[in-house]
Amino acid sequence: MSVKHSLVVPCYNEQDNVALFFDAACRAMEGYTHSFELVFVNDGSKDDTADRLNALYAAHPEIKITVVHFARNFGKEAAILAGLTHARGNYVTVIDGDMQQPPEKAVEMGRFLDEHPDIDAVAAFPANRREKGFMRWCKRKFYKVINRVSDVTLVEEASDFRTLRRKVVDALLRLPEYHRFSKGLFSFVGFRTHALPYDVAERATGTTKWNFFKLLRYAFDGIMAYTDMPLKLPLWLGGFMSVVGAIGLIAAGIVKLCDNFAVVMGWALAALIMLVGGLILVSVGVMGAYIGKIHTQVKNRPVFITRDVYSYPED
Ligand code: UDP
Ligand code: MG
Repeated sequence: MSVKHSLVVPCYNEQDNVALFFDAACRAMEGYTHSFELVFVNDGSKDDTADRLNALYAAHPEIKITVVHFARNFGKEAAILAGLTHARGNYVTVIDGDMQQPPEKAVEMGRFLDEHPDIDAVAAFPANRREKGFMRWCKRKFYKVINRVSDVTLVEEASDFRTLRRKVVDALLRLPEYHRFSKGLFSFVGFRTHALPYDVAERATGTTKWNFFKLLRYAFDGIMAYTDMPLKLPLWLGGFMSVVGAIGLIAAGIVKLCDNFAVVMGWALAALIMLVGGLILVSVGVMGAYIGKIHTQVKNRPVFITRDVYSYPED
């Protein structure tokens, strides 16, 4: 493999950023190695991203560029997988195309791997968090929950901005799951990972593709991919409720002589039925959610479908 360092760049509606990123990335990488490549994954952008990427590819035959166009928007996780699949480098960095993650940091991560043969991957974590308030709180809770209930450990600050040695990339490519959650996958494959801080910049142009509900769904995917604890919850809940119910029955027998017992009992029963019914529905819902994931997985559909791939010849 002649390429030393690949940058994998997922792009969704980044028309005004791709050229900026291209210049910045080339400038940074050329100071490090001339054996680098850029793997852009156009994740079904609705703006002019596709044409801009094709134009860069056509205008720069001297630079190793691969452009993968998806048939539609498959999401960032799918774009990362496609990028890793097409990357040919000994080191591979996953980096956003919106200039929030400085390409110089990719060079720094590459240098770190050069100097530390015993380290397999370098993860860049944001030294400055831009989010405040509610979102921040939600994210923190999410990591608390997922780390408590699953076998893998996820670091809150860890991002998918990281540089991997070839063996880590190959390990990731062997994970066939449809519902991908990169942070969990990185943690699942293991390897010795070093963390470096970086300063998150503002987006060069455009807006973030995430909103609260998209993140919530992503969080559920993450939890469901790494633990079956929610599936076992009804067992504990059911056991607890049975015990409480039995005690309640005995107690009811003892207070039988109370006044207006029938009226109180009527309301209590109605509430109890609601409660039990609700809990049963929640349990069924949890099963349904997991079965839904199994259903998608057994259909064995590909994580992404490519429309076109442009690349440079092997040498
Ligand atoms: N992205 C993608 N597919 C999507 C959403 C986002 O490839 O469906 C890319 C996007 O173009 C950017 C990166 O993933 O390069 C991070 O997205 P964004 O900047 O919206 O996320 P944030 O930085 O706000 O977490
Ligand atoms: Mg961004």
